[in-house]
Amino acid sequence: MSDIPRHLVCGLLVLFSQQFDPPLLVSAERSKYVLAIGIDGLRTDALDAAKTPNIDALKKNGSYSNTCKILGVRYQKNDTISGPGWTSYLTGVWADKHGVHDNEFGGQRIARYPHFFNLIKQQYPDYKTASFIDWYPIDKYIVSKADVRVGFEAHGSDGYTVFDQYIADRAVKVLAEQNVRATMVYFGSTDETGHRYGFHPSVPQYMRSIEKVDQHVGRLTDAIKSRPTYQQEDWVILISSDHGGEGKGHGSGHQVPTIHNIYLIVSGESAGKGEFQGQVYLVDLVATALKHLEVDFRPEWQLDGKPVGLFPRP
Ligand SMILES: [Zn+2]
Repeated sequence: MSDIPRHLVCGLLVLFSQQFDPPLLVSAERSKYVLAIGIDGLRTDALDAAKTPNIDALKKNGSYSNTCKILGVRYQKNDTISGPGWTSYLTGVWADKHGVHDNEFGGQRIARYPHFFNLIKQQYPDYKTASFIDWYPIDKYIVSKADVRVGFEAHGSDGYTVFDQYIADRAVKVLAEQNVRATMVYFGSTDETGHRYGFHPSVPQYMRSIEKVDQHVGRLTDAIKSRPTYQQEDWVILISSDHGGEGKGHGSGHQVPTIHNIYLIVSGESAGKGEFQGQVYLVDLVATALKHLEVDFRPEWQLDGKPVGLFPRP
């Protein structure tokens, strides 16, 4: 046994201990990277019906659920809107902890339950992080410890369509050229378009906004694949949202499945393939990102989520 290279032993252990198709044996030795993509107000049946080849490819190469919950079992007194949604997405805890119940951010305790970049840097202070946002409150209240920080303030569905393009342009350049371990890219045009025209697969403007964001997603994944060191890297791409929509809104959607169910996609060579078997939650995204980056969880973080969709590692 001692003559067998250690990485091969680890790989064999992986092979026998998990139920998915095994990842390449060498993946345990590659450098880990995470790209988290947030698409505001993305209703699940609209994504299913839209022509989104890039998101479809990520879904095919990963684990996914279209019944991921934006509200916890323990706590769900926050409104089903962007402020609490994005804070849960980015901190990995529910609103009773982070304190954001609406879009005013009054009572927020994000310094106590910070953005996951902050948690990464507690263990790996040298890991670079990058944030690209055009719903300004996220940049103003939630983002911290971002080495590259792009925060636009967009208005209206047309404004968000333009700024989503800027966001993608900036993120593409950084993903291709810099060594950033954790990146968050947010797109807001879907939500603004839903508020203006309606959140539904039958609304052409809403569907076009989803398809446009899919093109941005394709450019982001192309940028990653263009990296000269891509073959030595192990990327996990996460996609989720903060809520769906019904009619032209999504507030008070606690009993409305088209609002409180969202997609969660965990994609990459280190991800299992197929639909999640158990219930997954919005707060699982941060735990999954941290796990992939080999960050040790600290009890004082009080994370509400759990890592999901990744192959177990020995
Ligand atoms: Zn929103």
